[in-house]
Amino acid sequence: METADYIVVGGGSTGCALAGRLSEDGTRSVLLMEAGQDARKLVNRMPAGSFRLLPNPQFNWLYGTEADPTINGRTSYWMAGRALGGGSAVNGGVYTRGGRHDYDGWAAAGCAGWAWDDVLPYFLRAEDYQGPVSPSHARGGPLAVSSLRSPHRLAAAFVSACREAGFREIPDYCSGDVDGAFVNLLTQKKGERWSSARAYIEPADGRSNLSVLSGVTVDRVLFEGRRAVGVRVIVEGQPREYRANREVILSAGSIGSPAILMRSGVGPGAHLQAMGVAVVQDAPQVGQNLQEHPSYPYSRFVDVPTYNVKAKPASIMMEVAKYILFRRGMMTAGPVQAIGFLRSRPDLAHPDIKLAFSPLAPDLASQGLHERSGVTVHVIASSPKSRGEIRLRSPEATDKPVIDHRLLEHPDDIGAIVGGIRHLERIFAAPALARHVTGRNIPAEPPTDDAGWEAQVRLLASTGYQPVGTCRMGSDAASVVDPGLRVRGVEGLRVADVSIMPTMPTANTSAPGIMIGEKTAEMIRADR
Ligand SMILES: Cc1cc2nc3c(=O)[nH]c(=O)nc-3n(C[C@H](O)[C@H](O)[C@H](O)COP(=O)(O)OP(=O)(O)OC[C@H]3O[C@@H](n4cnc5c(N)ncnc54)[C@H](O)[C@@H]3O)c2cc1C
Repeated sequence: METADYIVVGGGSTGCALAGRLSEDGTRSVLLMEAGQDARKLVNRMPAGSFRLLPNPQFNWLYGTEADPTINGRTSYWMAGRALGGGSAVNGGVYTRGGRHDYDGWAAAGCAGWAWDDVLPYFLRAEDYQGPVSPSHARGGPLAVSSLRSPHRLAAAFVSACREAGFREIPDYCSGDVDGAFVNLLTQKKGERWSSARAYIEPADGRSNLSVLSGVTVDRVLFEGRRAVGVRVIVEGQPREYRANREVILSAGSIGSPAILMRSGVGPGAHLQAMGVAVVQDAPQVGQNLQEHPSYPYSRFVDVPTYNVKAKPASIMMEVAKYILFRRGMMTAGPVQAIGFLRSRPDLAHPDIKLAFSPLAPDLASQGLHERSGVTVHVIASSPKSRGEIRLRSPEATDKPVIDHRLLEHPDDIGAIVGGIRHLERIFAAPALARHVTGRNIPAEPPTDDAGWEAQVRLLASTGYQPVGTCRMGSDAASVVDPGLRVRGVEGLRVADVSIMPTMPTANTSAPGIMIGEKTAEMIRADR
């Protein structure tokens, strides 16, 4: 297909949902373009396969960052899925939606149509819940959502310890109430990863009006005047053009989408000129408003075997065999099995901390897994106030963009993490966990005051793999897209992925991305 009604750029969490839904209308043709591969091997279907996939640049963009002065000048690699399914093809599979207050906050800030009551129907339309149907869970949608098949026993102990330490246990965290602790659901079915490619593209395999091109890097959007009419792509080093009769929709993620916009001439005018890109629309906020989860790894040793100890070649082979035969065991597990959304200060209206519980202990000295059993709780500022930006390094699609982010610039973010660590110390002292704890891993010696903890956090903080916000949605003239996700100042072009989020929801962002794909498909149908 060289021409299609709709071209969707990027087959990630959002793009697959969008392309799958758009192509349900047999009278419209859809072309989905993905830089990564359509990967369907066992390792791609096995949830724990992500440990093999993530170090591999074939499946991970491994975008490098600038030195960040707020984490002692360190640089890092930001992971991002590079395969059909995008993040959902390699991620931890944690299923979260966010809280009512997140989406109501978006609507109050000018994003009409994005309040909780507006977005919940799209979460439900997407969902194929493997548990009982309820007002907050639906069955029959494309995206399988289920409880952990073989949970680690300390996941439930973590939630009990949160309760014993005085925090709430949430009975149904998908109902818009995210104020407390819970054992999380995963996007999987019968032990298999349910990426958005699996959910939306595999069932559409036979549709003649849907073409999926993988291994294709989109360089830029083509304009005639101010109207987007197609895309220029690079295939095996050669440029090629594809035409869109109706719309081009960018779903290349929070780093990919602003980069494509800028290469296409939509972005901060002075920056584009400095890069030698002809300006189609001066849009100063493209690439701005970058938000990430700053995350600190707090770890203790325990008396129950954890995955790092089971990850020896002999036991891994046993686990893979168990997986192949029964789809059970450690290989079905996600790295994060329980979560607590808490407040760092009692005066806050909503949670600002995420505690992500993982039955796995790293070893700082070897930068690998520890010999001793241990658990790690990532303490994360869940509503980060620090901001960064994406810029072009060059006008070439082969050059990864610049990520200039100050992870802990805002004092509230470091305050939230230190407050979260204080809560966590009490949670580990609660009976349900205390009876299992045998020692401290990270840090080996706890600092004695907040200044000491702050230094620890700056030393070890990294990202939580959820960048959002770089093509901000809003009703103000400065926003990149309007609430219909149309790019301001041009025609025939939308952005639909987590980059449109004005602020980070209290969530991991794959299911919200899928919700955005579902809602965009509906908005495009309605516009027609
Ligand atoms: C290691 C890791 C663990 C995570 N764990 C979780 C989790 O457990 N739960 C959760 O909810 N979220 C998790 N996330 C975050 C979540 O996966 C992402 O927020 C989500 O996938 C983003 O969806 P998206 O559609 O905006 O972008 P993506 O899913 O990243 O999709 C963008 C797609 O566009 C493609 N692309 C980019 N540039 C181009 C180009 N120029 N041409 C063609 N294609 C292009 C990419 O290859 C990618 O497939 C994790 C992320 C990572 C990296």
